[in-house]
Amino acid sequence: MAQKWIERTEGIVRADYAYWVGKYMDKFYDGLEKQKIVGIKCPSCKKVYVPPRKVCGDCATTIPLEGQWVELGTRGTLLNFTATKYTVSERRKKKNEKMTIIGLIQIDGSNTAMIYPILDAQEQGMKIGMKVEVVWNKKVQGTPNDIKGFKVAGGA
Ligand SMILES: [Zn+2]
Repeated sequence: MAQKWIERTEGIVRADYAYWVGKYMDKFYDGLEKQKIVGIKCPSCKKVYVPPRKVCGDCATTIPLEGQWVELGTRGTLLNFTATKYTVSERRKKKNEKMTIIGLIQIDGSNTAMIYPILDAQEQGMKIGMKVEVVWNKKVQGTPNDIKGFKVAGGA
């Protein structure tokens, strides 16, 4: 494949990918496509990773690709949060008009956390330790965007 450096271009660029997310993240995205959150459990220290990873960050055990998957629910705990007018994904964009709450969420049954917006919430109503649940995007297609965000969980 011939390569050429492009320093600046306008319009649509089509690029063939040389890498893909990998076998572990692929399973995670397969789960999202079915509106399920799956994690991987370290066979040695039993820590559960969401999103999954190949090597345990705690005990450095290589987690096998098969036999270690656990299906978790769509609820989690808010470990921390911040309210901001800046967007997370577009760092060059100046400001949003709207205040967004970004949460650090630990899915129940996992030992790690993910960052997602908390939807339809007010900063004043937020509390560390409160229960949240996944809000799926209307169209799920096996990407991180399948999770639109989280909302404060109702009921028990
Ligand atoms: Zn481990």
